[in-house]
This record gives sequence, structure tokens and C-alpha cells, in this order.
Amino acid sequence: MTRIDINEKILSKNDMAADRLRKRFKETGTAVINIASAPGSGKTTLLEKILPQLKTRYRLAVIEGDLRTENDANRLRALGVNAVQIQTGDACHLEAVQIEKLLDDLQTDNLDLLIIENIGNLVCPASYDLGEDAMFVMLSVAEGDDKPAKYPTIFHNAGYFILNKTDLAPYTDFDIQKCLNNALSVNSKLKLFTLSARTGEGINKLIEAIEGIIKNKKEGGVLK
Ligand code: MG
Ligand code: ZN
Repeated sequence: MTRIDINEKILSKNDMAADRLRKRFKETGTAVINIASAPGSGKTTLLEKILPQLKTRYRLAVIEGDLRTENDANRLRALGVNAVQIQTGDACHLEAVQIEKLLDDLQTDNLDLLIIENIGNLVCPASYDLGEDAMFVMLSVAEGDDKPAKYPTIFHNAGYFILNKTDLAPYTDFDIQKCLNNALSVNSKLKLFTLSARTGEGINKLIEAIEGIIKNKKEGGVLK
């Protein structure tokens, strides 16, 4: 019982911070996307592919989460993207208070879009609201096609499912249709994107969806 109580306390503190973020992002019309996947699914590579196009049309910034190193923020800065790195040390997820601390540095009040690349982990990022408008969950075909069934919470909480590395599918036993069906059986409202960040196949559809999220936020709609 005690353990559950402690957990609830931590979550409610995070939820309060997330609510403060949501209020501020609503006032400034800043769309926020939280991306979660296991390590190595290709989150940063996907951002490298889509951000050069998006940054010509929108004011945007990225928060990168990793246990250590500035590597991912540096990859995005090399493309002229405003990126900041959070190094969590040992923590396996990002929390709303960590995002709050960066708002002034990133001048988020002037942004159309803030993307948060969460720590590579399909478990606790599902339970930590970061004030986002849209949660993206991502897998690659180099993983197991039954992951949506194994990690249902994050698929349940996400609005968007990105299946990456489709160019590698012929070299694996990954069953794309089975995986998509698996994901839909957890959450029938998931919007599905199959793409290859490496070859660029399928990324335009994702860019259009992100533009829709930005437009919706400007018009004051609630997505989630
Ligand atoms: Mg990364
Ligand atoms: Zn965690």
C-alpha cells in the first residue's frame, strides 16, 4: 500500500507541473509533441529528416532526453535546429518540471512547435504527462512485432504510432500488418504511420500530420 501511495504522490506532482505547462502552451499557441520509443528505434534520425522541412515554415525547438551525452542535441544543432539536451543521469523518463526549467532558455513563448524526444523507454514515459498535445509512440521493424501487446499502456495513451525502418522489413521476420493490428487492438484511435527515416519513404504523411497538430493548436483545439 505504501508503495502505491508514494507513486500517486509523485505522479500528482508531475500532473500539476504538466497542467501549468499546458496552460502556458495554450496561451502561447505552442504545439507540443512528446515522442517515446525504445532506444534505437530511430527517434533522432527521424527528427533529422523532418525538421529541416518544418523549420522553414515554423518556429520550433527540440528538447532531447538521454541519460548522458549531448550527442542527440548536437546532431540537431548541426542542422540549425534549436535543441537543448536534458541528461537525466540514471532516470528513465522525463518529468514536467524538467521541461518547465527550460521554457525561458528555449523562448517557448515564441514557438509554434516544441518537440520532446523522451528517454528511450516504453514503460514510464507513458505515465508522465509533459503537457503535450500529442504523444507519438514509435517502433522499428528491427524490434518485436508484438511490442504493442507487451507495452499496452504507452500505446493506449499515445495518439500516433510510427513504425520506422520499413526499408529493413525484407531482412527481418517482422510482420508489419500483425504489428499494426496489435497496436489498433490496444487503441483503435491510433493514427498509423509506416515510414523509413533513412530513405525518407512515408515521411511526408507524418509532416502533414504535425502541421495539422500545429494548426489545431493555433485554432485553440484540444487534441491529445
Ligand atoms: Mg535519440
Ligand atoms: Zn522512468
